Amino acid sequence: MTNTSHQLTTVTLGYPRIGEKREVKKALESYWAKKSSSDELLNTIEEIEKLNWQKQIDAGIDLIAVGDTSLYDHILDWTVYLGLIPSRFQSFNGLQQYFAMARGADGIPALEMTKWFDTNYHYLVPEIEASCQPQANFDGFLHQVKRGQNILGKRTNPIILSPVTLVGLSRYEGSLLENVEKLLPLYQSLLEELKGYGITEVQIHEPILVTNETLEIKEATIKTYDILSQGGLPINLVTYFEDLGNNYNWVVNLPVKAISLDFTRGNNLELLKQHGFPTDKRLGVGIVDARNVWQVNYAQVQDVLKAVKAVTTNISIQPSASLQFVPLDVEREVNLPAPLRNVLSFAQQKLIELKMLSGEGNEQFWQQKDERWTSFKAFAPHRPLVQEKVDGLTNKDFDRTLSYQERIKEQIQLPIFPTTTIGSFPQTKEVRRLRLNYKKGELSLQEYQEAIDKEIAECIKLQEDIGLDVLVHGEFERTDMVEFFGQKLSGFAFTESGWVQSYGSRYVRPPIIFGDVERSEAMTVREFKVAQSLTDKPVKGMLTGPVTMLNWSFPRSDISRKHQALQIGLALQKEVADLQEAGALIIQMDEPAFREGLPLKTALWADYLTWAVDAFRLASAIALPVTQIHTHMCYSEFGDIIKDIEKMDADVISIENSRSNNRTLEEVTTAGYNHQIGNGVYDIHSPVVPSTAQMVKQLEEGLKNLPLQQIWVNPDCGLKTRHWDEVIPALSNMVEATKIIRQKAEELASK
Ligand code: GLN
Ligand code: ZN
Repeated sequence: MTNTSHQLTTVTLGYPRIGEKREVKKALESYWAKKSSSDELLNTIEEIEKLNWQKQIDAGIDLIAVGDTSLYDHILDWTVYLGLIPSRFQSFNGLQQYFAMARGADGIPALEMTKWFDTNYHYLVPEIEASCQPQANFDGFLHQVKRGQNILGKRTNPIILSPVTLVGLSRYEGSLLENVEKLLPLYQSLLEELKGYGITEVQIHEPILVTNETLEIKEATIKTYDILSQGGLPINLVTYFEDLGNNYNWVVNLPVKAISLDFTRGNNLELLKQHGFPTDKRLGVGIVDARNVWQVNYAQVQDVLKAVKAVTTNISIQPSASLQFVPLDVEREVNLPAPLRNVLSFAQQKLIELKMLSGEGNEQFWQQKDERWTSFKAFAPHRPLVQEKVDGLTNKDFDRTLSYQERIKEQIQLPIFPTTTIGSFPQTKEVRRLRLNYKKGELSLQEYQEAIDKEIAECIKLQEDIGLDVLVHGEFERTDMVEFFGQKLSGFAFTESGWVQSYGSRYVRPPIIFGDVERSEAMTVREFKVAQSLTDKPVKGMLTGPVTMLNWSFPRSDISRKHQALQIGLALQKEVADLQEAGALIIQMDEPAFREGLPLKTALWADYLTWAVDAFRLASAIALPVTQIHTHMCYSEFGDIIKDIEKMDADVISIENSRSNNRTLEEVTTAGYNHQIGNGVYDIHSPVVPSTAQMVKQLEEGLKNLPLQQIWVNPDCGLKTRHWDEVIPALSNMVEATKIIRQKAEELASK
């Protein structure tokens, strides 16, 4: 791109795919439901793609990313382009094959889904079979590029997923290098083709370079760029989410035209200052934060840009990553208070920021932004007392008064293998309608509460009939486990259209933490009391933990995540105290997103785990010795953080186990975890009703691994997505299985 003297090149790395009215999501779901044709689906997707490009042209972006459009997942797209089709999908073709890989078909399991680095986006994990002879078909990609060229002309900047990152994230046999080498000829021919199209530069996305440094990755990366640079098509090697760490020195010397780095996370600026930057390359400065929703803080960004320019002036201005991790457009959020809306920046606003940062003479624009920050600061909930309290926390705020071994003697006595559920019961259409009607003002608070209480009563009765030991109220009043609490706390804001892709057609609207968090009134006590008044069995108080609240929100950018987690911890502490006061003998604080917050570099884990554990402890340590604290985590990789989970000091933890065939339990046992565990005895994600025999088997396995007193019996997650006619037989079988296993255990004991 041509550079006038005072205008820096602007580059984008990807844009949200959903469309302003969630067109893409709707088109997909309608196609799956066989209500529309594949042509209609593709048309919708291409229309949104076109609109996205037009927005980027209008904003004056110089190099516009092409290749971010996807039917389901862009990693899956590359898996398919490269012909890495596992044998179980080879009998399918076309869209059918694509969606079978994404979602499974006829008893054939889909590719596994997992988190894309430390984002909340989930990709499908490629499986490269040893026998696989990859055969490329880049038609889909090339069509995208052609469409792009028609609209964007010279601005067309294709995104290519690097073979190193692709293989690095795959399941494969043999070495990384070996597998990458198999793919390189395919990539070479692709670059050749693109050159023929008149493309002048491509982005190769290589985020794997910001994870732990390994020789394997280094070797494969060097080889890759040696080969790919031979074709002569200029490459922008793009990294994001963290700094290059020890990879910096060799990466910046790879034979590429440009290197893009994230200057919003990690220490790339320090690395740059320390080691310099080659004069023959352009530095892509990822300075507009693609992972958070706040507008640029101009003074801060100017400082970074000044420091960068002192090292090299051959730079382009970029978002820190693809903008797919933020919502589309703030303008739609008419219900947010203006002072807050004025300082938010979603994808559309970030484009403008890029442009404004790339040129000079935009002082007025930035001055206006500064003024908006000033009025926002006056508006945001500012609670010096909360801040002081967090700063003044001492050890005893984090410790329960008695050790686990001492306090369990005082806690509620239950039969061996106590049975319970994780909290939610089916969210039926009627329950959803109830909440909606209340929100719209069609139901008074009293009418709404009466209706909710009726649901609670039925749920309690049902649990008693089934014969569960520890009951729950059912969570009928909750839309979402974070939103529900966020709406009751100060400091959280909620968008109407702030959708961000989680996976496939699933999008979430993360809350925005915009001020100090404080609890002004009890959040769950009323429902707890209603439920407990209806039964002699213990009902669990049910909360979402501080780490999950934080990890599933957009955090503030002016104070640390640690500080925010502790603020939320303090707010929840009050709720724990109130539940206890109201008679709760058991309180569960869910932390399904605890593991998600782990940094990309293991060297940074300790710091995160320390404050995350502290936040949980802060919220729960107020519990008296008699109060049993539960936590719940719905995943199965525990081995590497089990010591930290132990430090959370919950009396009981319930985990996902049913899908990992007791591997989790083994890991937990090997690590010497000695608090109580409810290893999920069946998979709630499946509509299949588990048999009694199957659950007996699962429990026997538990018995091999853990002492009797340690085992709880429960499903592996909440039941909100299931139907009553699945839940009732499943839980009945679970209680039946428990009776059998209790008897077996007694026989064993009397021998
Ligand atoms: N208590 C919550 C429920 O049952 C837990 C949800 C979760 O783990 N994601 O729905
Ligand atoms: Zn769960």
